[in-house]
This record gives sequence, structure tokens and C-alpha cells, in this order.
Amino acid sequence: MAETNVEVTCLDCAFEESHAALGRARVALAAHASETGHDVDWTINRLASGVEQAGADAGICGINGCENTDSPLLDWHRPDDEA
Ligand SMILES: [Zn+2]
Repeated sequence: MAETNVEVTCLDCAFEESHAALGRARVALAAHASETGHDVDWTINRLASGVEQAGADAGICGINGCENTDSPLLDWHRPDDEA
């Protein structure tokens, strides 16, 4: 399983934590919110590698030549398949 770096940041105080797993980040977020009543936000810095690959294959990064037309993750339109 790919590591996910999730930053938990409180909007109402200096509370700030970084977690490798989404589940732990959610626990930390919920714990701080329930303890203090603060508004806690989180930021996911890295997606699972499969999601990152799908995004790269789709050319979401916007860089020319980034699209991977051979990607099995995408349903590219191929005229040959219609025969
Ligand atoms: Zn707080």
C-alpha cells in the first residue's frame, strides 16, 4: 500500500500533525475537534500511487507528452476496436 502523507491543521490554534495514513489523520482530526471544538482541516499531500498513475496517464498534469495512450486505466477511443 502506498504511503499517504496527510497534514492535519487546526484553523483555530497552532495544532498541526502529519500522518502517513489517512485513517490515523482522521482519528487525530476527530480527537482534536471533539476535545477543543476547533475547526480542523486536513491536506492530502500524496495520493496512492495507482491514483497518481491514473492522473498522469490521463494527462491531468497538463504537460505535453504526458498522456499515456497505452494505459489500461483509461478507456481510450480506438477506431480499430469498432471493426
Ligand atoms: Zn485547535
